[in-house]
Amino acid sequence: MATMRAVQVTRPNGSFEVVERRIPEAAEGSLRIQVQACGICHSDALTRQGTYPGMVHPRVPGHEVAGVVDAVGRGVTGWEPGQKVGVGWNGGYCGHCDPCRRGDFFACVTGQVTGITSDGGYADYLIAPASAVARLPADLAPAEAAPLMCAGLTTFNALRNSAARPGDVAAVLGLGGLGHLGVQYAAKMGFHAVAIARGKDKEPLARKLGASVYIDSQAQDPAAELLKLGGAKVILATATSGEAMSAVQGGLAVHGTLLVVGAAPTMQVSPVWLLAGCRSIKGWYSGTSIDIQDTLAFSARTGVRPMIETFPLERASEAFDRMMSGKARFRVVLTMGR
Ligand SMILES: [Zn+2]
Ligand SMILES: [Zn+2]
Repeated sequence: MATMRAVQVTRPNGSFEVVERRIPEAAEGSLRIQVQACGICHSDALTRQGTYPGMVHPRVPGHEVAGVVDAVGRGVTGWEPGQKVGVGWNGGYCGHCDPCRRGDFFACVTGQVTGITSDGGYADYLIAPASAVARLPADLAPAEAAPLMCAGLTTFNALRNSAARPGDVAAVLGLGGLGHLGVQYAAKMGFHAVAIARGKDKEPLARKLGASVYIDSQAQDPAAELLKLGGAKVILATATSGEAMSAVQGGLAVHGTLLVVGAAPTMQVSPVWLLAGCRSIKGWYSGTSIDIQDTLAFSARTGVRPMIETFPLERASEAFDRMMSGKARFRVVLTMGR
């Protein structure tokens, strides 16, 4: 029996266990992917805690997967072994439910999530429905490509679907795993990129990533500073602090949007400020496989790269703790040694 390494969580709040498992077969409609690297995302905590509705253990986490097609299941067209591919949070969609029929594939009623409703990328191999798989450019290293599957996709897709146009002020709140990518995308998309974070010490990094203005939210009022620039057409809120989001909303231009991708539990909203300027607050889901493909192609072409710390697969537990500590600069990636 051919086996592989996998890191699984056996029960809610259990530890990460490195186990030997049988290499799974590619089911009908699916691909088997040999994993080369898998990013560790904060949402992997849902797999560990078992708090995602309906999820069952044991489960292998991981939804920032970069690898190569290893086997193609029956009924799959357009894919062949050896192709460089990636898989993100969206674990596929049915194509025939009402949201899918409206083109909202991300909202498919089957609700498939990589590493939550099916085993993810903390392993040598995973099985993914063909609808969940993205093609990767040849010239991106797997460990650099992996964080773009979720952190990169989320920020790229949110910004490109915002109302901001080249030259408009696009502010990125937070300079962590998502934010350090968001600033790069905002600059490469031709926006007037503004980075907002806590502390003067982050300014050199923000500028290196492409921010033309840096706002230290500890020393300055971020809303007032944005209004000095004419107001932000979009503020991409990557921080997970509701207070930080509330503090920047006053910096929105007329028709500006606070675009929320950080999972803060609550935030204060000023209804009068919203209605007086036709401003809005909107959430953004990351995206599907074709959006990943666009994210990776754009990143390869424009030089957007994540800053990463890599750990071998066996050290997944340590790597996860490093991510949770908030000290990683900026995304933690597991590598499989191939
Ligand atoms: Zn994620
Ligand atoms: Zn569907």
